[in-house]
Amino acid sequence: MRSFDENLSLYAKLAIEVGVNLQPGQRLSIGAPLQAAGYVRSLVRQAYAAGAYDVHVDWHDDETGLTRLLMAPDAALRDVPNWLVSKHETLMEQRAARISVYAPTPGLLKDVDPKRLASSTLAQQKAMKRVQDATMVTKSSWLVISPATPAWAAEVYPDEAPEEALNHLWDEIFRLCRIDRDDPIGAWREHVEDLGRRAAFLNERRFRRLHYEGPGTDLRIELPPRHVWQSARETDELGVPCVVNLPTEEVFTLPTRDGVDGTVVASMPLNYEGVTVEGIRLTLRRGEIVDYTAEKGLEALRSIIETDEGARRLGEVALVSQDSPIAATGRLFYNTLYDENSSCHLAIGDAYPTCIEGGRDMSEEELTAEGRNHSMAHVDFMIGSDRLNVTAEDASGGLVPLLREGRWAF
Ligand code: ZN
Ligand code: ZN
Repeated sequence: MRSFDENLSLYAKLAIEVGVNLQPGQRLSIGAPLQAAGYVRSLVRQAYAAGAYDVHVDWHDDETGLTRLLMAPDAALRDVPNWLVSKHETLMEQRAARISVYAPTPGLLKDVDPKRLASSTLAQQKAMKRVQDATMVTKSSWLVISPATPAWAAEVYPDEAPEEALNHLWDEIFRLCRIDRDDPIGAWREHVEDLGRRAAFLNERRFRRLHYEGPGTDLRIELPPRHVWQSARETDELGVPCVVNLPTEEVFTLPTRDGVDGTVVASMPLNYEGVTVEGIRLTLRRGEIVDYTAEKGLEALRSIIETDEGARRLGEVALVSQDSPIAATGRLFYNTLYDENSSCHLAIGDAYPTCIEGGRDMSEEELTAEGRNHSMAHVDFMIGSDRLNVTAEDASGGLVPLLREGRWAF
């Protein structure tokens, strides 16, 4: 058995070597909450050990961020200073790799006026558009990874004492991220390979349509003629491979912008900016969300869908087998990175340009012509369960089962 510190170092090494695959002489920028300081320090050590030129850490604090959302004047929430934007754009131009240490405190923003929250988020998205667009085409490597924090652990294991819950969550993260294996780095390379093979099969078959059937769900999704199935394994502009989410269990592509019809019911709550949205049900016609309901958190769902024109449509179709280690826990983690990898999901809003053949080099207009949806929002919601069947239809009308009772069928 390895000690906690050894596991933590391996988890950091995984982020640096497999996640962003940091190259000697490259810059690294890390965005992280203060609660994750222990893990971030480990990341910084591993980054310099791998030959980083410079590591920049952007700290933020949940508590002060919340105070601002509650107390700052309306105008200030819509005002993103230029110096902040240019810092991120400069790092992007310098091809800095980017790690988002994602450890949101569940329920943090529950008392924030949804209108103020939405206008603050929208201002951020607008200001950071160039950085976001560069991320969507993996200009340089990036990664989202989650360390355990006391607030997150308390949400996942509410019946346990704080310290016990925190240790429990760390153990679970190490297990689900294969850190408990003899050779975690090797295990990841192999797993990412397997997902790549599934994506390759789907790409070879050039399916035209997917049919989702499950309790409350009957949805038909058309795929653009030049769609590309991907795994979280990407290559940056210079061809350096990286894995943008850890853990990852999905293969995904994009739906045709106006080719989604039917009704879909979420199988798990969505934790959006600290608000829990439960019982989501969407009805789509020709790609557009024409009706939506939620049993809880409807306001937050509305603010997502009303972000812009593109947020009324879908931008991602992802398949995850129910026998993935995360799904096998049967547990909700209140963290999208974990929950989306426990379940098939769809995203409201933006589609990755790289999901279109040659999309990396296309203009917005060309991408739209290929059937890609564009939005400032990209929010995943989970629809997988042991009762979900997904069937693909090929060009000649032949049917191929992709998932049966939630599990890989190919
Ligand atoms: Zn996804
Ligand atoms: Zn997504």
